[in-house]
Parts: sequence; C-alpha cells; structure tokens
Amino acid sequence: MPASENLWPAILEQIELDVRDQQFDTWFRNVSLDQFSSESITLRVPNSFYHEWLRRHYLGTIEKAVLAVTSCRPAVEFVVKPPPKPANPEPTPPPAPPTTATPANPMPAPVVGHAERRFFPTDWTSRLSQHYTFDTFVVGGSNALPHAASLAISENPGLAYNPFFLHGGMGLGKTHLVQGITQRLLQTRPKTRMLYLSCESFMNHFVSSIQHGEMQKFRSIYRGLDALLIDDIHFLGRGTREATQEEFFHTFNALYNAGKQIVLSSDCPPHELTKLEERLLSRFKWGLVARIDAPSYETRVAILRKKAQLRGRVLPDEVLHFVAEHIDTNIRELEGAITKIIGLSSLTNKPVDLHLAREALRDTVERVAAAITIDDVIRHVTTEFRIKLSDLQSKKRSKSITHPRQVAMYLARSLTRHSLGEIGGYFGGRDHTTVMHACDKIKRLLQDDPMVAATVERLTTQLRRQRNSPSS
Ligand code: ADP
Ligand code: MG
Repeated sequence: MPASENLWPAILEQIELDVRDQQFDTWFRNVSLDQFSSESITLRVPNSFYHEWLRRHYLGTIEKAVLAVTSCRPAVEFVVKPPPKPANPEPTPPPAPPTTATPANPMPAPVVGHAERRFFPTDWTSRLSQHYTFDTFVVGGSNALPHAASLAISENPGLAYNPFFLHGGMGLGKTHLVQGITQRLLQTRPKTRMLYLSCESFMNHFVSSIQHGEMQKFRSIYRGLDALLIDDIHFLGRGTREATQEEFFHTFNALYNAGKQIVLSSDCPPHELTKLEERLLSRFKWGLVARIDAPSYETRVAILRKKAQLRGRVLPDEVLHFVAEHIDTNIRELEGAITKIIGLSSLTNKPVDLHLAREALRDTVERVAAAITIDDVIRHVTTEFRIKLSDLQSKKRSKSITHPRQVAMYLARSLTRHSLGEIGGYFGGRDHTTVMHACDKIKRLLQDDPMVAATVERLTTQLRRQRNSPSS
C-alpha cells in the first residue's frame, strides 16, 4: 500500500490530464484523500456542494484516475470535512517552504474591482505549476530553439524576441516553457507588471468586463502590463466572438508599441489559425515564431530520467528505454507512464524492474500499438490510388503521384502524432515545409473539390476502423 501522501498526488495528476485547468483548480485543489483500500476510497471535500458536484460530474474521471494509478476499482466515497484549522491560532503559522513556484512578488494588483477580483486574485501566480520551470525542462533537438528563445526573453523582456509565438502539438511542453518564462521573470524582475493566463481566462475576463461595464478597467489592466503571456491563443480563433479578437488586437498593439513583451502559445502555427484576422496573424510573425517538435528517443529517455528524479526515484535504464520505445510522441504520456510505474511499485511494494514496467503499462502499450501509424496510412493510400510505396517516396512530380503523396502526408499529419519533419522523412526525405505545403494544399482541396473530400474521408474512416476493430 503506498503512503497516502504519494497516492493522492498521483491520482490528481491523472485527473489533471482529463479536466480543464480552471475546472481542476475549482473542483480538485481542495479535495484530499481520507482513506484508501482496494474496496473503497474516501475523498475529503470541504462541503456538501463539492460532494454533490464531484459525484455528478466527475465520478467517472475520478474512478478512471484511481484505476490508472492503483490498478484497483474501489468504490469512490466522499466525506465532508472542512479544512482543518490550525491547532493553535495564536502563534504565527510556520512560513511556507520556499519554492520556485511561489514567487515572493505576485503581480502588483491593479485597482481591484469586482471583475478583477474574480479573475485576478492577487495570487494569480498560484496558477503556475512548481514543476514548470526552466530547471525541470529537458533540452533536446526538438525544443532547443524555443527553449533558448524563452531564456533570452526572460533575460531581456521586450527586447529579445517580441512577440514570441510558440507552437507545437499537444503535450510537447508549451505551457511548461511559457510558465518557465513567467516564473523566471517573477524571480529575477519582481517589479515587472506581468500576467500569465490562459486564452480562455482572457476571453472570460473580457466578456465579464463588458457585462459589468468595466471595459475601462479591463483596458487599464492589460495595457499597463510590462509582459503579457497567453497560453493556448488558438482558442481566440475558435470562439465566435469577434469583439474579443478586436480587443486583443488593440491590447497587442498597445503593448507592442510600448515595447512590452508578448508571449503566445498555440497548438498550430499562425497561418493555420484561419479564423483569426489576417492583421492579427501577420503581427504574430513580427517577432519569433518557434515550433516545439516531438522529442527524439534520446530526449525521451532524458525526460523520463528527469521526471523520475523529480519524484525522488532513480529508475533502471532498461525501464527508461522500455518506456521511451513504447511512448513516442506526447510527453504528458511519458509522465503518466512514470506515475503508473512508480504507483504500481509502491502499491505492490516491489522494486521497479522491466517486468513491473510492462505490467504497469500494459494498457498504454496496447493502446499505443493500436494507434494509426504512417505505415498504415501508406498502405491505404497506395491501395486507394493503385501506386507503389516507391512512387510515394520517389522524386516523381507527375500529378498521379504528387496528389496521393500529398494525401498521404495530410493523413499522416492529421491521424498520427508525427511531426512534419518525421513525416517528410517517410516520404523520401522531404523537409517539413514540403509536408506543410502538402497539408495546406489538401485542406484547400477538401473545401473546393468534393471528390478529394470524399476520398480523404473514406481513407480516414478506413484507417480509424482498422484500428478500432475488435480483432486488432
Ligand atoms: P503543452 O502545453 O504543449 O500541451 P505541457 O507544457 O503541458 O504541454 O507539457 C506536458 C507535460 O510534459 C508537462 O508535464 C511538462 O512538464 C512535460 N514536458 C514537456 N516538455 C518537457 C521537457 N522538455 N522537459 C521536461 N518535461 C517536459
Ligand atoms: Mg498547454
């Protein structure tokens, strides 16, 4: 049985993968573990409202997380216990241990009105994860440039690269780097008026400011910043609110013209944010646009080693290699794997070895094996267009070959988690711009040419079905 202090954080980490940041903060930060056995797990919640809400909306999520960490399916129960008061209120409580995550100087709070209080608690820095600092970031070929740029920005905000637009696939370290910049700035330049927030929070704040007639205040907050860091800016284009875009545009201009630092992260490059106005997109490219790629094998091993070390564990090399071999794109999943392995080891009181790692990752490894591969894509595309693999990889430029090749690149990009560069590698060592061009071309055709759209849809369905069929 793991000590409960290890168990609950591990379960929380799993839950965090499944729910949005804001919801996680609202519903899980105040929950703790009361007791655990293989039959039942009891969670301590501050009041009955939490109990009701968690039971109704998050029971499945909690059960899944508990299963992932403990490999047991205990019944989930709740007990309402307000957080304990300090035993003796008289003496001053012991100071919190200094961590890099609780910078001494939170953002100087601007006039705190109703809306700000809701969206800008003076401890907005509590949104920062103590794990997301430069110290814990493993640098490899896939992220060396974004990492170097992030360091430069935290040394020379407003001067090094402005704006800094960081993009890359899910779970590749964007939030980690953006928070890394934030935390470094908080440490080294405590007077900087800065704000790190998700795009969603920015949009919510904007809407609420309009509703409360507080646009003046909204503007004075954002336009008075020295550094504004917005995570997941792609949401700006996915909402339907043009007014929010418009306001962001003016915020951007005001800060940019005053030489203030702007940092944005996105799950795709600027030109794929097609819902955003061109004038905004072109501004994103004024500074540095940097992409994070999926880590190489060596970097994955280094990340795994670091993550284990951060949990106070040294795992055998063969275990690190086993995980790096089987999980090859998303770093969040690499972390999840470490959590599971360590979780199983403490649960069963067995040392971590290859056998235990296999056991802990049985589901993940099967799921990864069931993921669509580039080989699957190639197989289906060559059959569909009656061409050979060697044609796809050749330098041939006739339309009968380039079109299937572009379709294959597009499918590889949208159905697998390989980076543009890796995909290019499969198709005769082409570079990432060729793949990007192919994807753009097919995207255009999907809208303009119903025949192409039908073929691509059919291939997509075949590929998905093949992987989900019970026999696989
Ligand atoms: P994104 O925002 O791109 O979806 P995150 O920044 O949330 O991804 O990263 C997902 C997880 O992977 C985080 O726990 C983060 O700490 C970890 N991670 C990503 N890149 C690295 C890295 N280079 N070194 C160490 N941990 C990393
Ligand atoms: Mg992120």
